[in-house]
Amino acid sequence: MDEGLVSVDKFSGGSRVYFLTHLHQDHTRGLGAAGGWRHGPLYCSPVTARLLPTRFPGVDASLLRPIAPGDSVSLSLSSPASGRLISLHVTAIPALHCPGSLMYLFRGDLGCKLYTGDFRWELGCEEARSAKKALLDALAGDSVDVLYMDNTFCHPSLNFPPRPVVAEQIVNVIQAHPDHEVIIGVDTLGKEDLLLHISRALQTKIWVWPQRLLTVHLLGIDDNHEIFTTQTSLTRVRAVPRYSLTVGNLEALNTVCPTIGIMPSGIPWLLKSGEGKTRSSGESPAKSIRRRGPGWGVGTIEMDYDPSSPPKLFEKDSYTLPYSDHACFPELEDLVQTVRPSTVVGIVSSSFYNLNPRLHFSHLCGDEVCAGKTPAENSGHTRSLASRSRPSSSKTPRRRRIKISSSTLYRSKAIMQRKGACGARITEPEEPISVA
Ligand SMILES: [Zn+2]
Repeated sequence: MDEGLVSVDKFSGGSRVYFLTHLHQDHTRGLGAAGGWRHGPLYCSPVTARLLPTRFPGVDASLLRPIAPGDSVSLSLSSPASGRLISLHVTAIPALHCPGSLMYLFRGDLGCKLYTGDFRWELGCEEARSAKKALLDALAGDSVDVLYMDNTFCHPSLNFPPRPVVAEQIVNVIQAHPDHEVIIGVDTLGKEDLLLHISRALQTKIWVWPQRLLTVHLLGIDDNHEIFTTQTSLTRVRAVPRYSLTVGNLEALNTVCPTIGIMPSGIPWLLKSGEGKTRSSGESPAKSIRRRGPGWGVGTIEMDYDPSSPPKLFEKDSYTLPYSDHACFPELEDLVQTVRPSTVVGIVSSSFYNLNPRLHFSHLCGDEVCAGKTPAENSGHTRSLASRSRPSSSKTPRRRRIKISSSTLYRSKAIMQRKGACGARITEPEEPISVA
């Protein structure tokens, strides 16, 4: 391994070249460095390059290297360790997580490595299907040595409906409250499609805060200013920063006028149920995760979502629906089956959803899957997505007890924890993720 060459979503310096998957806060640490960031060429999508100066005005714009989804770039980097030239061929793959989000496939002298960043490839989704095809085309028969994967929801109990299905349910919730103000918690980027769907379905404008409006316009959405507004008097539906959608704020708003909150996210879908409701390990699908951790006590968190039933209140005056921009477990499994890497590494290392993909997918990784096969059989290029069958060893993985802490998720503990660490210097030896 050769150190000091390539960093992905890690901007503390020390590399020859940098790659940014998308503009969420937990992937951009270091870009706001005092005095401006100027460590080296920075590759990102054209959309990200357009938005980046508004978020990080100190980044030297001459260092930005936009790379469109599906495009590739060849690099020759001088190794600081050996002085030799290292050749890299990098392909950008749509991640379908938020506007401008990319995966990166690295091939060449450092081996074959895929860094997904945050991604959501819904099964059966045409966009995801073509993104997967782009990935397989870019692999050109290579096998992935290391898959760095979005492990935010890497547990068999986490299975989210497609985003369009949940979007419709959110519309239904709003329609069921015709006399209420509605506030929807969103990040600084992402879920634009959801807001557009709500606007069109209900024929209403959506209030957003000024920075969010700027982002929307930089994305080229709503050029005619027909959908988004910063005037509260024009609509009862408001998209607010996720951190501001709290129980306390909802209570305060309800002293003025009836208001409901909606949190479109996979994270709050892990609901805390009462003590003594742990389900037996024989139940299917898996729905219970024992929770045990310092300061959190012992209990059970439980996913409590039935897509065929009307959404239930999560807390007083608030609904949570699993509109997730992160892949759920079957989608993660599908990706691992698609690329069949030698090893898989989670990119989220400090979240309390820190769920090690190796626990669940080692049977799909090269060491086991490829054993006894010929090199030709191991070739990814000739694989057909449609015809690939699940190996007999890919039954539901053995249930494990996972150290996971959770509480009132509307208070954003999960989100705050998740900001702990993302990114990798892909030339560094990966460290195992701790799972109790
Ligand atoms: Zn993200």
